[in-house]
Amino acid sequence: MVGSKDKSKEKRDKRLQEISLLRTIPYSDHQRWWTSETVAVVTGANRGIGFEMVRQLAGHGLTVILTSRDENVGVEAAKILQEGGFNVDFHRLDILDPSSIQDFCNWIKEKYECIDVLINNAGVNYNVGSGNSVEFSNMVISTNYYGTKNIITAMIPLMRHASQGARIVNVTSRLGRLKGRHSKLENEAVRAKLMDVDSLTEEIVDETVSEFLKQVEEGTWESGGWPHSFTDYSVSKMAVNAYTRVLAKELSERPDGEKIYANCFCPGWVKTAMTGYAGNISAEDGADTGVWLALLPDQAITGKFFAERREINF
Ligand code: NDP
Repeated sequence: MVGSKDKSKEKRDKRLQEISLLRTIPYSDHQRWWTSETVAVVTGANRGIGFEMVRQLAGHGLTVILTSRDENVGVEAAKILQEGGFNVDFHRLDILDPSSIQDFCNWIKEKYECIDVLINNAGVNYNVGSGNSVEFSNMVISTNYYGTKNIITAMIPLMRHASQGARIVNVTSRLGRLKGRHSKLENEAVRAKLMDVDSLTEEIVDETVSEFLKQVEEGTWESGGWPHSFTDYSVSKMAVNAYTRVLAKELSERPDGEKIYANCFCPGWVKTAMTGYAGNISAEDGADTGVWLALLPDQAITGKFFAERREINF
């Protein structure tokens, strides 16, 4: 008898095979809106999925800025790609540090004037395996949610005005899902607030994470209806998912020629340092949907959540 776990593994493997094939099909001239002057920025790109997204985007012919909070490690990572003939530049960027963000923006303005693609990949998680500690909740929420918001806010004025639109891609996770079989959120009030995209605001998302952190501080979070595994990480990704929808709504009000499209995706469970290399797919496969989203020829797609190149529910 085939169990449901085996069935979903079979389905996933089949989809990954399809995607490997799709990756071999070159973009046609009319799909290719970018040139070697198109600039993409990837945060937290010294290793893992971020590094792979830089490699794949540069492989498609864009100029890619590999950023890392550690200068030496970042320079070394960029060197690997530069020596492979890729058009990759490096600058230090710590998304938790406002002066580092400011420094990075000044450098972009001076050297490139503007950018076309921003991929928010930098993130932390302190729970590996089956244990679940909320000890580092502040750091997880600050980095994954507020750090991501801060770099987006700083970079929006530097995004190119162009007919094809600029693109923001946020790396999130299915662990932050609000609905469906796999959602681990039990708090109905939070679910209802974050699901209601018409009335959703940045303040509501901020209040939600603040409430979570308050309960952690008071030691009451376990009865708060939050997910019971990867708790702080799941809440942080839930917040980035919700923020992506708010952002997309705001950005859609910009006039034609100044549009910015914002989407998020889950890379799957990936063999990287974050999972202790225990994932079930490679960083190359994990990076795929992010790269595909960044290069989407269809401009009207915004405020959506994807996995394996398909739209999924928030
Ligand atoms: P890694 O731990 O390999 O990479 C995370 C990257 O983020 C590192 O380069 C790290 O830098 C960087 N980073 C952390 N904090 C900051 C900061 N303050 N400023 C700048 N960079 C920072 O993990 P992955 O490649 O797996 O993760 C990449 C993204 O994918 C994350 O957002 C993660 O949440 C998401 N994701 C991963 C999944 C997986 O299964 N691996 C599943 C779902 C989502 P440093 O090397 O200095 O620590």
